[in-house]
Amino acid sequence: MTAGRDFLAYLCGRLVPGFAAILLALSAGVANARSLDVDRDLCHVVSATALGDTDLSGLRFSCRGKPADYQQKSLWLRAVLDGDAPRSNLALMVHMSRFDRLAVGFSYADGTTRWQRVHAGNYGSHWRAGGQILFDAPDRPVLLTAVTMRFDGLSAYELVRARVLPKGEAGMQSAGMAAAVGAALTLLLVSGIYSLSLAFAVRRQYLAWQAAWSGTMLLWGGFWSQMPLTLLPGMAGTATAQLCTFLACLAVALATLSAVTAVNRDMAPKGVGTTALVLGLGVGIAGIPLALTRSGNLGLLADILGFVIIADLLTVTLYLGWAWHRGSIEARDFLAAWGLPMAVLAFIQVVDVEDGFWGGGSKLVVLVATTWQALWLAAAATRRLAYLRVERDDARDAEAQARQLARRDPLTGLPNRRGFIESVSPLLERARADNLPAALLLVDVDRFKSINDIYGHDAGDMVLCGIARRIGRWEGPMCTVARLGGEEFGLLTIGMEGIILARFAESIRRGIAACDHSETVGARLVTASIGVAEVRPACDFQSLYRLADEALYDAKRGGRNKVAVQRHQDVAGPASGREVAVSSQGHV
Ligand code: GH3
Ligand code: MG
Ligand code: MG
Repeated sequence: MTAGRDFLAYLCGRLVPGFAAILLALSAGVANARSLDVDRDLCHVVSATALGDTDLSGLRFSCRGKPADYQQKSLWLRAVLDGDAPRSNLALMVHMSRFDRLAVGFSYADGTTRWQRVHAGNYGSHWRAGGQILFDAPDRPVLLTAVTMRFDGLSAYELVRARVLPKGEAGMQSAGMAAAVGAALTLLLVSGIYSLSLAFAVRRQYLAWQAAWSGTMLLWGGFWSQMPLTLLPGMAGTATAQLCTFLACLAVALATLSAVTAVNRDMAPKGVGTTALVLGLGVGIAGIPLALTRSGNLGLLADILGFVIIADLLTVTLYLGWAWHRGSIEARDFLAAWGLPMAVLAFIQVVDVEDGFWGGGSKLVVLVATTWQALWLAAAATRRLAYLRVERDDARDAEAQARQLARRDPLTGLPNRRGFIESVSPLLERARADNLPAALLLVDVDRFKSINDIYGHDAGDMVLCGIARRIGRWEGPMCTVARLGGEEFGLLTIGMEGIILARFAESIRRGIAACDHSETVGARLVTASIGVAEVRPACDFQSLYRLADEALYDAKRGGRNKVAVQRHQDVAGPASGREVAVSSQGHV
């Protein structure tokens, strides 16, 4: 949780100011540009398309009302340059591409008009990144008096956006816009690929929707900014604009799907989630006819769609807010990711930024906000995965610890029977392969039951611990020790045999007898009997244990506090070569 808050603080502290700085940088340089307001600055006239551009002088422009019935004809829009606005070295930027043909005429004080033309499918050298078409006024010794735009087959007069600005500034803005759009698209591409890889890696549906959304926004940003015209100049014009409309609607649908599927269904009311999905899918489906509409009342349709999109965003926000309130981390991450784009959308509804941000207007703002959202979501998914990995590692550690505990005797701390078998089995196999001698020494405390009976169970435990400590000292590279159960201990040695082994067993017997238990059992001597099974080549643990047990029985029968050895040449074969020896203090 603390890590989560730190991360949030980091994002708020670093990324938000960074984002604000980008917006500020983008908005710089707008000061000298003069936007042409279609209603205020532009006079209009509609003519037949057959009319030549040079017939401009015969047209009678109206500076009042709105033009009508222009979609199948030519709409002429004219801005008169007067007052103290700069009148030379100017350029015209048009941010609108839903037309068949556009001719731009720069009129000069000497009465001449110079024309430049583009048409759908060919913007020539006029296209610029950021969805702009640039027309530089030819340099002439006389001042400019007016700029005329002649649109053939224009889809919507209300959507016309154009600016007049100094040429140098236009160049700088185009370069800045190309850099901003390029950076945003690259980040969108990276986050899209990342989300897709995550979706495959962790098999989460919402990450796939998120990747699809990033991809759609990438395409939208690419087509809107006219980037593909570098490779496909024939895509210039209305077809691209229509595709953008469809992609924008599809992106809203995918974003809704991604947000709703990210949250566990029980975390928020079903009705809200379903409403969000219906609205989102509605926007996605509405994109198809809207994209196919080449002309008509696009402005009104765009307003209605905008209203449905806002309703969708609010429903998704309500859904996520609800789930967050109930503790959904996914909902919290999505809310944080949606927060900024939501604020941006609200901002551009209230404040008209269409001419701002180097002419990229609201679309550039949306693109940057989208990039922010994509990066945030990718970062949030990574963080959640990191948490999952920590939890998985903790679970593994706990499991390893539990496994370790299951192999140890809690009273004495020595390995128990299971742990002993597990660790000695591979040793026995290796000894067999290398034809090395192996031996198991079974140590059983003599008359231990009477210690319990006389001094109590706790005293018995303390005696067992004392003996275990002593036996533990023999643990080493050649000897593995364990408490095999009750008052029985085991030692397995590899490489020791004959007299050396017998002496080793004897030293253990003596060592145990020499243990000081005076605090628990007073002067009573606590001894142990040892049964030794000695084999070469080594055999499996069960056979070895059987032999050692037989030897231990011999040692007990021989009077206790004794070592008995069973020597076998081949345990698996017939009981040949069996030797039994019992020893007591002093000799083997
Ligand atoms: P022998 O010399 O023949 O081995 O005699 P013994 O009394 O040692 O043999 P027996 O197997 O009859 O008794 C073993 C006793 O060990 C019985 C059981 O109560 C006791 N014991 C087993 N595990 C524990 C333990 O963890 N703590 C204590 N205090 N006693 C235990
Ligand atoms: Mg016993
Ligand atoms: Mg015993």
